[in-house]
Amino acid sequence: MANMFADRAKIYVRSGKGGDGHVSFRRELYVPNGGPDGGDGGKGGDVIFVIDKGLNTLTDFKNIRKYKAGDGEEGGKKRCHGKNGADVVIKVPPGTVIKDFETGKVIVDMAEREEPFTLLTGGRGGKGNMHYATSTMQAPRYAQPGEPAIEKTLSLELKMIADVGLVGFPSVGKSTILSKVSNAKPKIADYHFTTLVPNLGVVGLGEGRGFVMADIPGIIEGAAEGVGLGLDFLRHIERTRVILHVVDAASVEGRDPIEDIEAITEELRRYSEQLAARPTIIVANKLDVLLPEDKEAILKKLKDKFEPEIPVLPISAATGEGIKEMLEKAYQLIQTAPDDVMEFTPEITLEEYTAREENLPYTVEKGDEEGVFIVEGPRIEKMLGYTNLEDNKGFKFFQEFMVKNGIIDELKALGIQEGDTVRIYGWAFEYYE
Ligand code: GDP
Ligand code: MG
Repeated sequence: MANMFADRAKIYVRSGKGGDGHVSFRRELYVPNGGPDGGDGGKGGDVIFVIDKGLNTLTDFKNIRKYKAGDGEEGGKKRCHGKNGADVVIKVPPGTVIKDFETGKVIVDMAEREEPFTLLTGGRGGKGNMHYATSTMQAPRYAQPGEPAIEKTLSLELKMIADVGLVGFPSVGKSTILSKVSNAKPKIADYHFTTLVPNLGVVGLGEGRGFVMADIPGIIEGAAEGVGLGLDFLRHIERTRVILHVVDAASVEGRDPIEDIEAITEELRRYSEQLAARPTIIVANKLDVLLPEDKEAILKKLKDKFEPEIPVLPISAATGEGIKEMLEKAYQLIQTAPDDVMEFTPEITLEEYTAREENLPYTVEKGDEEGVFIVEGPRIEKMLGYTNLEDNKGFKFFQEFMVKNGIIDELKALGIQEGDTVRIYGWAFEYYE
């Protein structure tokens, strides 16, 4: 499908590494043993998210998937502070929910947040050797390394925020309605799945009254089960306060309006009870096509079926008949709708999510027996504490940890052979290449 609708994106972000502290000594003419004067490293850049009200899709993220902040520069001699790395600022549309890609946990709901959100903080710069001079160590030859960068893969999901959402089967006239009543210019066509991008429009009712209306791309049956494109679209109405349920009352395409309404209501309910309970208006569209008596008949059928719980309003998006009344009714419902537009709460704190590995030491040694190797140290102990080795995932994590932290390389350097034993705090593993 051309112009695939982008309401989800996967991106890689990386904060800047802190610059290393510098090791140097004063060198002045006639001063033989100058003191340490190595400066501090610069701070790495942050990864910051901000809302851009002009955006309403995540399309940009299909083109650029990697966002890296600048690294801090190393400190210099003569107490020179390294330059800080540049921040990277990522603009997202209102309603973007940021999740960790691996775990699916919500990190932040940008919703309509005014302030920038710093998701990753750049690494602290290391201290230069000038900080390490003491009475016993007057010429320290070490400086602190900068803090490492943090890398994450995120998934962005757009959950649009609108006062009113138009829902209904494809081709019932949702885009036509939006284009008639707002400044939005949605695509209108009489084939299915025309609207792949949800459109937002501002509806002005005069006297400073107005609201935001969203044209939600066509829901198809089975959407709640994730069939076809449906589920993607359902995701967008989660945050609309009032639903205008549009139906082709003239059965231009031979559909039965009552069956259609019931099918969609069922999809909404299966997706979220909360969603199905939103204040709703049934908008009976395309009435211009019908003869007066047919029009009366279908309206009576709809009203008998759904009123008084759900009001049924007759309109023709084509001629404009009934549109004003529909908008006034929608406005009225918004005023009384519960103000429970949901915000997604974080499922992990930023602190936990972006915690840097402490640089704890470990050792890799040959044991007393032939073919036995021993790995120990606080870092290893800590990792075992939060890893379940009896679980497949946990074991995989453990293996990756061993590779990532250079432990396998050290074992190889010590001459480990296939079939040898590696002992780690009460565990024994057989080594394989
Ligand atoms: P959507 O898929 O629900 O967004 O439907 P569209 O707004 O794209 O409309 C589908 C087709 O129905 C288009 O050809 C429209 O011109 C037509 N249409 C929409 N509203 C009316 C109406 O009130 N009367 C008539 N006769 N046609 C309409
Ligand atoms: Mg449309």
